Amino acid sequence: MEPILTINNLTKKFGYLTAVKDLSFTINKGNVYGILGPNGSGKSTTLGIVLNVVNKTHGNFHWFDGNTSTHDALKKVGAIIERPNFYPYMTALQNLKLVCKIKGVPYHKIDEKLEIVGLSERKNSEFSTYSLGMKQRLAIASALLNDPEILILDEPTNGLDPQGIHQIREIIKQIAANGTTILLASHLLDEVEKVCSHVVVLRKGEKLYSGRVDEMISSHGFFELKSNHQNEL
Ligand code: ADP
Ligand code: MG
Repeated sequence: MEPILTINNLTKKFGYLTAVKDLSFTINKGNVYGILGPNGSGKSTTLGIVLNVVNKTHGNFHWFDGNTSTHDALKKVGAIIERPNFYPYMTALQNLKLVCKIKGVPYHKIDEKLEIVGLSERKNSEFSTYSLGMKQRLAIASALLNDPEILILDEPTNGLDPQGIHQIREIIKQIAANGTTILLASHLLDEVEKVCSHVVVLRKGEKLYSGRVDEMISSHGFFELKSNHQNEL
């Protein structure tokens, strides 16, 4: 197994609040990992730390084999941790060309990535005319431009209608099938069941479970957990 991300005893405190507590897990290449937990369980904080936008309090993490600096490793990581944000009065294509310039990626990658997210036909439309689902798909295309080893998504279907949710989940599965490792945070058990092979379940910053999704579902106590929390863990 080839490690992509290794987290050891990670802790994050905001003042007196412990947002992430002594968290350890490993992400291996070629799988789809979910971080599952209710709002406030520390999912976004964990992603922020490994993406170097939040400072950790204790513990450590490393990318890949551990011999690459985080700065260099992050060049091989695609991430969407905020609402998709592009220039509203520029077309999708113009926006992605700008991203290519910033990332030093050739323009010919754009068509390939727009195809993956199903936006080829709409590439000459202004971003402001896009639905929320299309905006999210454009953000995914943008995050894929540099052919990352891993794609990180924070609540990728939040706010979308059922059709938009279905489209995004199918796209994520397709990207994974093409060999890109995925790490997504979600408060929806349903999302993890449908999309992920592996899961880390968090509650109040602590790990409740980590392992295969199918094993979690067939394990003793799972149905009780599920019925107690309905669709949200
Ligand atoms: P999740 O993504 O699972 O909803 P977060 O990682 O966003 O959870 O938040 C975990 C806890 O840390 C929450 O109680 C949240 O209010 C708190 N928190 C997150 N960011 C900050 C911050 N910048 N300052 C203070 N508290 C924060
Ligand atoms: Mg969050």
